[in-house]
Amino acid sequence: MVAERLAEIVGPAHVLSRQSELLVYNSDGLPGYRRQPRLAVFPGTRDEAIAVVRFLAAERLPFVPRGAGTGLSGGALADDIVVVGLHRLKKIISLDVENRRATVEPGVVNLRLNKHVAPHGLLYAPDPSSEAACTIGGNVAENAGGPHCLKYGVTLNHVLAMTVVLPSGEIVELGSKVGERDGYDLRGAFIGSEGCFGLALEITVKLTPKPQAVRTLLADFTSVDKAAHVTSAIIASGIVPAALEFMDGATIRVVEDSIYAAGYPRDAEAILLIELDGLEAGVVADQETVRRICLDGGARQVRVARDDAERMKLWQGRKKAFGAMGRLAPHLIVQDAVIPRTKLPEILATIHAVSEKYSVMVCNVFHAGDGNLHPNIAYSADDPAESERVHKAMVEIMQACIAAGGSITGEHGVGLDKLGYMESIFSETSLNAMCELRGVFDPERRSNPGKVVPVHACKEWHGIPGSAKSRGAREASPLEAEPSRPIAR
Ligand SMILES: Cc1cc2nc3c(=O)[nH]c(=O)nc-3n(C[C@H](O)[C@H](O)[C@H](O)COP(=O)(O)OP(=O)(O)OC[C@H]3O[C@@H](n4cnc5c(N)ncnc54)[C@H](O)[C@@H]3O)c2cc1C
Repeated sequence: MVAERLAEIVGPAHVLSRQSELLVYNSDGLPGYRRQPRLAVFPGTRDEAIAVVRFLAAERLPFVPRGAGTGLSGGALADDIVVVGLHRLKKIISLDVENRRATVEPGVVNLRLNKHVAPHGLLYAPDPSSEAACTIGGNVAENAGGPHCLKYGVTLNHVLAMTVVLPSGEIVELGSKVGERDGYDLRGAFIGSEGCFGLALEITVKLTPKPQAVRTLLADFTSVDKAAHVTSAIIASGIVPAALEFMDGATIRVVEDSIYAAGYPRDAEAILLIELDGLEAGVVADQETVRRICLDGGARQVRVARDDAERMKLWQGRKKAFGAMGRLAPHLIVQDAVIPRTKLPEILATIHAVSEKYSVMVCNVFHAGDGNLHPNIAYSADDPAESERVHKAMVEIMQACIAAGGSITGEHGVGLDKLGYMESIFSETSLNAMCELRGVFDPERRSNPGKVVPVHACKEWHGIPGSAKSRGAREASPLEAEPSRPIAR
């Protein structure tokens, strides 16, 4: 019945209800989590998307917005409810070169926007490593970052305005395309709301002029510790690189064994990829300063990419590193935490000790300049003993990051994966405040239910009227007792 009504809105070809067809929507980029949706609907126009949301509102049905499904926190998973897939909404609605802004539909892929604006000497700065697949709508929902966010800022700093369909079906405009808006600026509340506040339907982004000069440096080290200290030394020098990325020896060798081989030194224990950009004269001076800091800090050598082709190759190795890890084992857990940059040497040593303790192979590749760590473990979810060791290792690593004064996510969001850690860093009062804010956008809590704030703290998931969940008592969340367990299947 629901499927038929949705098919009337979007056409029968754009509704999936067979369980076999829905399998591809049962996970995102973190394949250890699986949740089977009941239905998936793919609106092809703005009006169809609004009509779908209004129909779901009238029926009081919960739903999960979904972009490209590259998320790394289980955020786009729908547990027996409706997926609203937005990938067909992929129009670049307008490009205003003079005022350096573009308005896009949510399903526009990040890299496609960049290719579209490049001939005009412009770029869209947030560049998640998944840029070839992830959507601007998904970037907004996760407040996505990326290597170049060190200098340019994350998605929040590049969105001027949004048209949003609230879960009730009401349309609201957040921010302004042309300048300050009267009243509260609610962009910051929506950006990073992980699909829990409704659908971003139209997004106006700020475009940045391409820098006059760019240099990409590769510094290689025989010790992780030296590379970590050099990271802090570069930032302490006052230079703000466009990007400052770290890859450890395990990651270097995985990339070099893959089709993304970039010519990284295989025998290094760490490399830093450092990009400097700006006016030619300034970049030349900064390049020399950074080279000196690296060599003084113990780098074996500092190589500068000779041309754009070499630059691209160095970046491809970095950006495809998670993909290259797919060669190691069937499953990959990608973690995301932030620590104060000065704690990098200490935390990297802890990660190493934890990996030995649990006999798991951790590959570290991350946005070092921001202190945004990504310890990754390749494993087989079909091996319960290995899964258990991976789970314990990840919990210890996350606890060490929290103890170091860090946070549980830098850019991948909370989704399902980090729910169990929320109470480690937020007080009950803060969690209640988050729930109240959510209630302003989605009083019935139908948009992406059960994500971000632990269920018992939000008292949210009493279920949709008439559903099995609403008839029973409050459903105890399996995530209440301890951090989420994505590993065993
Ligand atoms: C190889 C790889 C590298 C990555 N590198 C980075 C990186 O460098 N930086 C980074 O920040 N992330 C990175 N990610 C994570 C991921 O790509 C980002 O979180 C991205 O923003 C998700 O976009 P998506 O379109 O795939 O969204 P999805 O995964 O489909 O959804 C993510 C969340 O957004 C919500 N959502 C999606 N579209 C909308 C919409 N229009 N309105 C409201 N809510 C919506 C969903 O409900 C869900 O909660 C990486 C992922 C992979 C696989």
